[in-house]
Amino acid sequence: MPPQLAGGITGPGHLRPLLDTVLDALTTGATARGGPLPAGGPDTVARHVRDACAPAIPHTGTGAEHALRTLVHALAAGAADPAHPRCVAHLHCPPLALAVAADLATSALNQSLDSWDQAPAASALEAETTAALAALVYPGHRAPDALVTSGGTESNQLALLLARERHPGAPALRVVCGANAHHSIQRAVWLLGLPPAHVLPTPTGTLDPVALHTALGELGAPGPVLVVATAGTTDTGAIDPLPEIAHHTAAHGAELHIDAAYGGPLLFSDREAHRLDGLPFADSVTLDLHKLGWQPIAAGLLAVRDTTALRPLGHQADYLNADDDTAAGLPDLLGRSLRTTRRPDVFKIAVTLRALGREGLGALIDTVCDQAQHLADLIDAHPALTLRGRPEISTVLFRPTDADDTHVAAVRRRLLHDGHAVLGRAHADGRLWLKATLLNPHTRPADLTALLHLTTEGTTAR
Ligand SMILES: *Cc1c(COP(=O)(O)O)cnc(C)c1O
Repeated sequence: MPPQLAGGITGPGHLRPLLDTVLDALTTGATARGGPLPAGGPDTVARHVRDACAPAIPHTGTGAEHALRTLVHALAAGAADPAHPRCVAHLHCPPLALAVAADLATSALNQSLDSWDQAPAASALEAETTAALAALVYPGHRAPDALVTSGGTESNQLALLLARERHPGAPALRVVCGANAHHSIQRAVWLLGLPPAHVLPTPTGTLDPVALHTALGELGAPGPVLVVATAGTTDTGAIDPLPEIAHHTAAHGAELHIDAAYGGPLLFSDREAHRLDGLPFADSVTLDLHKLGWQPIAAGLLAVRDTTALRPLGHQADYLNADDDTAAGLPDLLGRSLRTTRRPDVFKIAVTLRALGREGLGALIDTVCDQAQHLADLIDAHPALTLRGRPEISTVLFRPTDADDTHVAAVRRRLLHDGHAVLGRAHADGRLWLKATLLNPHTRPADLTALLHLTTEGTTAR
């Protein structure tokens, strides 16, 4: 008898006992770990994984129950757990249980968004959800649209590709960005074969509109220019002055892409949305819902002002979108991605948006922004710690007062090795800082106090 399938009427019945095994092993694994990440460092973790899972390809399999139990346990025991209040290094969010449950349905149904006949309802739901999200970014526009991507990196690549393709036959597109721009911008420039980006220094942490104005004036030579601004830098959460940047960009006849991978979801919060004033001036906007959106990876978006902006991605493959099928009314999906086989990552997003509403998501965002302010207050009042500045979104930079950069880096690695905390690191103002990126709405003030205590004392409390 071949192994059971997940789909159809009988699939759920086959899944149920396997899910019990998975959920039990997630519990035992997290219990065995006990903290935000496994203790002992890379060699210890690799040894535990080998002990639990070797050989990777046995001649005779262990069967579903055993393989699931041992590997899920090992994965959870050795996980960096973003749901732990001291796992705060990266824009690595703890996913909502409801979004993970929705993702299970996505996997079980295994729809593929490269053609309508592989995803009838999923493609309709993607169209509805992306239109609604695009309308949030571009309110009042006639037909804004958004693509679902694997994340900010792919969104930024697509944004630069669309900018290049808007000017067929023109001299090469030149990209102008701040030194604070995400590294994926430079990678996209390289991937697309564009001339090296014109990178403006950002000593204050954000792109200076006057320096931008000067640089655009000096570029002079003919050819299209794309300015890339950032709404929420990965290192500090800083938001570039978007209205001023949009003004100078338009005055010079350049185009604008805003990388709001981190800050974009502030749009859900009535209290914070104004920080993104100017966003609709952009020709395209990157946002990630696997950061401030509490989705399991992957949940990226690229929004454009009008759906016609996506035309350059149009592509034909007879088996997926033959002309006569399209003429007969079968939706043509191939131009909504550079990928072919594509998972409906939109499904968990759609469920989350329906379940929480704008209000519910906005409340989560306000909560983590408030936590960041509170952590900043604690650091500011701490005699042994220096706060870099007030947090702009939910990122807090700090360092042990009087420590040198080597010591700061060592503090972070000690906490990682001991499995006590996952803090990030960021260079700013010519120094190295510890970085806490708060994305867990369940974190309590006492958790933040404990985090600082571990940073300064090096105690062993878990
Ligand atoms: C995270 C991030 C990206 C990259 O997004 P991925 O989802 O990791 O591909 C791009 N830009 C900014 C500002 C980011 O914070």
